[in-house]
Amino acid sequence: MKNGVVIVGGGIAGSALSIALARRGIKTTLIEREARWTPLSSGLFIYCNGLQALDRLGVLDDIRQSGWVSPDGGNLYLTADGEKITRTIYPQIGDTIPAIVGMRRVELHRVLASALERQGVTVRLGVTVTAIDDKDPARPVSLTLSDGSTLTCDLLVGADGIRSQIRTHLFGALEPTYTGFGVWRSTHKKPASIDEKIMLMGVGTRLGIMPISRDELYMFGTTREPGKPYYPRDTWAKEMRAKFAAFKGPTEALLAEITQPEQVFYTSVEEVHLPLPWSRGRVVLIGDAAHSSSPFMGQGGAMALEDAVLLAEMLDGATDIPAVLTAFGTRRFERCKFVQDASRRVGEAGAIEDAEATIHRNKRMQASAQQDVDTFYARIAEPI
Ligand SMILES: Cc1cc2nc3c(=O)[nH]c(=O)nc-3n(C[C@H](O)[C@H](O)[C@H](O)COP(=O)(O)OP(=O)(O)OC[C@H]3O[C@@H](n4cnc5c(N)ncnc54)[C@H](O)[C@@H]3O)c2cc1C
Repeated sequence: MKNGVVIVGGGIAGSALSIALARRGIKTTLIEREARWTPLSSGLFIYCNGLQALDRLGVLDDIRQSGWVSPDGGNLYLTADGEKITRTIYPQIGDTIPAIVGMRRVELHRVLASALERQGVTVRLGVTVTAIDDKDPARPVSLTLSDGSTLTCDLLVGADGIRSQIRTHLFGALEPTYTGFGVWRSTHKKPASIDEKIMLMGVGTRLGIMPISRDELYMFGTTREPGKPYYPRDTWAKEMRAKFAAFKGPTEALLAEITQPEQVFYTSVEEVHLPLPWSRGRVVLIGDAAHSSSPFMGQGGAMALEDAVLLAEMLDGATDIPAVLTAFGTRRFERCKFVQDASRRVGEAGAIEDAEATIHRNKRMQASAQQDVDTFYARIAEPI
């Protein structure tokens, strides 16, 4: 690829693909519209398949050191009152890939940014694309950037997230699908007693906590939000406390710590349902731009990382780039849809509004939650 690759979007997908391509000696330029490039929001967890992809990027040791490694992949489920429902174990891969790592998003980003620097990737911050000319297959794809400069490339990748500009260029406007859920997130000093992922299953809502470093934890709660209400930023702390007021156990004290709006992030949960193809000619979409999922399986970042690792592998030595991009979409579509569907089911199960029905749900979880994890991860363990 004489003219190299341009990747638009320096989130998880774009940064990971840049690293993976650079490790294969493919010239890459990464374009990110944010000038400061410090991802907002609190924490995230990365399950074994995402960690395996990070291992393939050569950054797993940094990830382990920057985040919190679950000792045994355990996930404790409690009622809103703090009574134990069940405890499941998420799988690790071999002896080296942990089951779950929790970390601050900004730390994941720092690890990826250091790898970009080590690999010598050209990163252009504070710019976006204003024009794309990809019509003539005999000529490189040509881009004009918002600072007036131009670039040419043999492959353009849209890794620009749920409201992808590159997706609009390829296929026209596609409004993400609102799921009817909202997610409330906050970070806290970690009490020494908490050293596992804990989910409290309430009536209509669920609330989770998860360490993200030795001394911090991340709390995340889901609510049904019909009609996609708008909550002004200055109400977020009050709203989060009120919406989860019924939760006791380990979350009660944490909720009481939330006093300032800036301690909370609220997100309306949306999905992207883009049918194949995910590419046209020499332009392809990866990550949330192609298949954004609801977050209830904690798999969106892992899917983005898998996209990056696989696409880099498929491009290595490729001559017919459009054919590789078509094949890439075909290999990814079902797996990403499987995650989207599973995540939506988990979201619904966590938002049952009838108190009687939640008792049955909790009983069902005691009987089958581990089997559900095993079934999901048996599919995830299949080669990407
Ligand atoms: C509430 C919530 C919780 C989640 N929790 C988890 C979790 O625990 N674990 C997990 O694995 N996943 C989680 N996810 C999903 C995960 O955050 C996403 O799947 C992941 O961030 C997708 O990465 P991406 O790089 O495709 O997109 P993004 O992270 O959105 O990155 C896109 C990047 O492109 C840039 N950009 C956008 N437009 C342009 C443009 N025109 N020009 C240049 N740059 C542009 C943006 O600034 C951004 O940096 C969660 C999602 C939500 C909503």
